Amino acid sequence: MKTNFLQEITHPTPRSVLFSLPPIGLGTVLSEGLPSYLSRLAKAHSLLLCVLLAKYILPMLENHSLTKSLDRGSGRLYERPGNFLGLNDFTLKLVTILEDLTVRNDLVFLTLLPFRHIIDQHGLLKEFRSWCPACLESWRKNQKEIYEPLIWSLQMILVCPIHRCYLLTTCPTCKRTQHVIARKMQAGYCSSCGSWLVYDEFPRSSPPVGAYDLWIMQNMAQLLESAQTLPFVPFKDLVVECLSRYIKDHFCNSASSFAISFQIPKATAKRWNAVSSFPTLQHLFQLSYLSNTPLTDLIFKGVLKKRIKTRAMPAAYIRSSKETSQRKTIDHESVLRFLRNTLESQAEHRTMEQVSKQLGYTKKTLYSHYPELCKAIAAKATNHRISARDASIKQLTLFVETTTRQLHFSGIYPSYDRVEAASKKGILRGKEGRKTWRTTMKQLRLWR
Ligand SMILES: [Zn+2]
Ligand SMILES: [Zn+2]
Repeated sequence: MKTNFLQEITHPTPRSVLFSLPPIGLGTVLSEGLPSYLSRLAKAHSLLLCVLLAKYILPMLENHSLTKSLDRGSGRLYERPGNFLGLNDFTLKLVTILEDLTVRNDLVFLTLLPFRHIIDQHGLLKEFRSWCPACLESWRKNQKEIYEPLIWSLQMILVCPIHRCYLLTTCPTCKRTQHVIARKMQAGYCSSCGSWLVYDEFPRSSPPVGAYDLWIMQNMAQLLESAQTLPFVPFKDLVVECLSRYIKDHFCNSASSFAISFQIPKATAKRWNAVSSFPTLQHLFQLSYLSNTPLTDLIFKGVLKKRIKTRAMPAAYIRSSKETSQRKTIDHESVLRFLRNTLESQAEHRTMEQVSKQLGYTKKTLYSHYPELCKAIAAKATNHRISARDASIKQLTLFVETTTRQLHFSGIYPSYDRVEAASKKGILRGKEGRKTWRTTMKQLRLWR
């Protein structure tokens, strides 16, 4: 049995292109996430994660805008955790390709795709990687394979379901945060400096975990465990019906009274009652906690128990109406100075995403106050990207032409393989490189 398992992970099955590596912990609360799986799969093939993607997976997504943006040097593919874990079509395509290459049918459970028809992607995933040092340390100590569970990447999860300690988000060595997936990601190791993600003096004392954080962790664990046995039922309808029935039965059809009782903005509760919007996962948790209803009962059975009077939401999770109504005031003088400097700088070509992050205002806010400046900055960044790309194509075609001619005049037939070998790897793989090689061959009368 042991030999079969080892054979399975170390050798591709006759039909699979990539090793048919089994995911870790499927069906349990610590079920593996796709970034971790990809990093282990890359390691099994002695490749970097980005090379595995570029060699086997992305070519099959050739026409996707994210793949194209990667060719132009953009990091959008790696910066958005939703691409690898979320509920969108890109994740679905990625998983389908990976299942074909590994001849497996269980890789969908490495993502949140099984919950596609139940929950909204809004506020679902953390922007940055987080991990439980106690889990990592115990796997290392017991010589188990190091991996990173899907549950660690959920925005609402702050606590480890096993050790009940808060998850870490900064590397103990370089103190940096990192994206959920990175080009050179290795499970358990920092993507920036490569060090082990656990403090030397571990175990460290962790602050006591709040009742609501524990509730989220336990209920999210139950939800994830249900992924493999989920029937296809219109669960959203169940929840919507449950809420309007509840408001009718317990609050004489007053969505405002229901909102006050459950500490939810009135406008939001009114929209639910009018079936014009569906609760976010955060709000579903809030309803379930305040009524002591397990989240799976609310989602899968459309059940909401009576409000527990003694329970209240922790202050950190409730935005006061004063806070929401107060718009962030803009420091016009410094924002204008920053935007003008960005536009005039010869050396920097920041995109509006980078400007928005640096200033701490949304792109929408910036565009509404300074439309002309923002448009000019965006155009400058696009022009820079295009001219950088043109320059690199020009350099590449020149290189291909010179190499082809040099080989020919030295009496060596400049075949595809020889030109490729004489240059940087993959130089003829691109459309431009191949075209230049063919044209030069025709000019040298070597192409029929
Ligand atoms: Zn843990
Ligand atoms: Zn680090």
